[in-house]
Order: sequence, then structure tokens, then C-alpha cells
Amino acid sequence: MKPLHARYPFMAGAREAVQEASVDLAEVVATDEDVVERALERVEWALTDGTVGDTRRQTRVELLSYPVARVIVSTVDEHICTRKYAQAEAASAHERFVEELETETELRSTRQQHLSLDALLAEFDLGTAVRETGDGFRVTVGTYLELAADQWGDEWRLVNRSLVDGEVPVDREELYVLLKQAIRHRVVDGLPLSVPDVIAENLDEEVERVRETLSNMDLTTEIDTVVPDLFPPCMKHLLDQVQKGEHLAHHSRFAIAAFLTNIGMTTDEIVQLFEVNPGFGEEMTRYQVDHIRGDTSPTQYSAPACATMQSYGDCVNKDDICEDEINESHPMSYYEHRVEEADDDELTDWREGAGEDGDDDSDESPD
Ligand code: SF4
Repeated sequence: MKPLHARYPFMAGAREAVQEASVDLAEVVATDEDVVERALERVEWALTDGTVGDTRRQTRVELLSYPVARVIVSTVDEHICTRKYAQAEAASAHERFVEELETETELRSTRQQHLSLDALLAEFDLGTAVRETGDGFRVTVGTYLELAADQWGDEWRLVNRSLVDGEVPVDREELYVLLKQAIRHRVVDGLPLSVPDVIAENLDEEVERVRETLSNMDLTTEIDTVVPDLFPPCMKHLLDQVQKGEHLAHHSRFAIAAFLTNIGMTTDEIVQLFEVNPGFGEEMTRYQVDHIRGDTSPTQYSAPACATMQSYGDCVNKDDICEDEINESHPMSYYEHRVEEADDDELTDWREGAGEDGDDDSDESPD
């Protein structure tokens, strides 16, 4: 086991090192408190901080905490936990490899083993999809689309990029962001794992801790998943009305804006979603959403409960899930339930597809 493996435990070489050392994960979780503690820290920091925390000095502890953290995440088996964990591993690795790749050569040479850009590209089979040019890099369009699909922001949309002979020019910083996404895909790959009982039973306490952390988090902002197909019928209807350009009463407009804010959308994203409405009024939308979010008011507002929606006539098209007494009380509960129950392939975030959707120029895309 090498320090490089501990710094980048998702790499194939790290996995091989663990296999070569004939590590028995069941024994590790039963006997090695340091590894289990660091593994729990990885997951808890992912949920609360968006990183996996500070690395431990001991290579073995740091490296083995990664597979144990994956076991904890798999046993918790909550989509939000898995997603935030993968994002945090990728974010921490990104910070680490940028620092390592940008460090002066003479400083790097003092290290036993360092990461090179070529090695990182080869790790994700990107050696032929990415090539360096005099003024940056070029990425084949298929690879670009795959890795940039997770990026929010107009600058990542293919229609806003140059396309030269089937390649997209990117600068170094952008290439690093694409590599971060490749890491996130690698981390999430295979999760949740099937965890043998003999391993799971020694992690009961840690799994419980993570569940507690999750339940203490404000899910109204932690859902952070925007899948309109899974919205409750009332919110689907209101969003539909907005996008058709219909006039909405103040309470209805408040309800849809608060719901979208509560599920983690930013003001800019809501403005973008509303702007297909010819009379939507950007300034008013911004004012209202900032107010709901608590940026321009002393309170953070929640979307109305079902009873309030019903009293205003905004509860429409109730379905079986609404009738279920667990979910009937609040549109947020309905949505949380749908997100939890959904398969991964149903969970394509609207923001991820925003680059290709709803743009008249999209036929320039080779998709
Ligand atoms: S019961 Fe609640 S979630 Fe269902 S449509 Fe009515 S307001 Fe929306």
C-alpha cells in the first residue's frame, strides 16, 4: 500500500493493493477502530461539509477507510447519502490532484510517488479522448457530453462551445473539472454494494450515526434533486401553468416557487425554469424567490402543506400516493417519497439536462 493509493483510493491500483495485501474487510471492521472511525468520518463529512475530511497519516487507515465508507453508505442505502458521498469524494480528490499537478516539478520530485496528468487520464481510459494542444486541451465530443452533463452552468452547454472536428476545446481548469466528474462516476459505480451480514453487523452503530445525521439535516434543502416527473400532481400542474404562460394567483405562484426553493433550486435556476412564460417577470420572480429563501426576509418559507393547498384550490389531480396517509400531509413528503423510491435511471436531474433541453439551437448537438 502506497501513499498515492491512500490519496486516491478509488484508483484501480489502490484496489489491487488492497487485494494483494489479502485484506479481509470483515476482520477490518471487527477489529480496526481507526479504520472504521475514519470511514465514518468520510461519510459524515460528506453529508455535512461536502468533503471527506482531513486525511490520516497512516496509509493503511486512509486507504482502507474508503472501502469501509462505501460499505457504510451501501448499508444506509439512501439516495441522498450516496450522491453526497460520491460528490464529496470527487471534490476532495479534485482539490488534492489540482494541488499535486500544479506543484512545481522540483517540489514534486521530492515525493516518493506523485500523480501525473497522463496517469490520471489513463486511469479513466481518457488517454485517447483527451489531447493537449498549444493553448489547452481538446476532448472528443462524446466524452465531453458524458462528463459535462453533470455540470450546471451555461458555459458547459455544447451549444455554447466550439466544436472542432468532433472535439471540444477546454482549458486546463475545465479539464480538471471533467476529471472530477469521472472520479464521481467511479465512486458511485456499484453503489449500493451488496453487504454480507458478517460485515454489516459490525457497522450497526456507524450506520445508525449516519442515519441520525441524515434525519437531522433539513431535507427541505437537502433533497437537492430536481426531477419534474416525480413532482406531486399539484406542483406539476402549477409548473405546467407557469410554462404555458398562464396567469397564476399569488398563493399559487408562492406555492410553486417555495416548493422549487425547498428542493434545492437556486434563484437563477428557478428564473430559468419560469422564463419560458412570456409574462413571467424576472424581477418579480427573483424578488419572490429571494424572499422565500430568507435572503431578503427574516424567515425561510416552506411550501404550503396539503391542507393549505386544498383550501386555496391548488390541490389538483390527487393520485394514489397522495391518498396514502403518510404522504398526503405535504407535497414535500410526496416528493421525498418518490425520490427515495425511484431507480437511479429515473433520477436525472433537470439541471443536468438543461444544457440540451429547450434550446432551439440544440440540433447543433450531435446527440
Ligand atoms: S394531496 Fe398534497 S401532494 Fe397531493 S396533489 Fe394535493 S396538495 Fe399536492
